[in-house]
Amino acid sequence: MVVIARCSFCAKPNTEVETLVGGPGVFICDGCVRLCVSVIEGKPSDAPLIAPWEHDLPLAQVLQNLTPVAAATTQVQQNLAAWVGKARELGGTWSKIGEALGMTRQSAWERFGSTV
Ligand SMILES: [Zn+2]
Repeated sequence: MVVIARCSFCAKPNTEVETLVGGPGVFICDGCVRLCVSVIEGKPSDAPLIAPWEHDLPLAQVLQNLTPVAAATTQVQQNLAAWVGKARELGGTWSKIGEALGMTRQSAWERFGSTV
């Protein structure tokens, strides 16, 4: 089996999980979905909603989080480039691609022209 993508949460490749569900540039595996369900079910109804980096965390844990965040970011960037490549294969112009990405034709070409 070929590695197509990794879970954006635990970084396991599709070859090591039962199911990998794709979203807009991100993926989640069956194991992480089960973990999310248990977190949601166990969450107090009055739990404050704050960004993960807003929690009171020690530096070591913050530094530890950088690696998986960077890996997920790289995968999202690769995924976006692949989608742009698909758009180009289907005849999409740099103008249309730029419009879809909220950037100019020139910016789209400069960002993706060498990768697709
Ligand atoms: Zn996962």
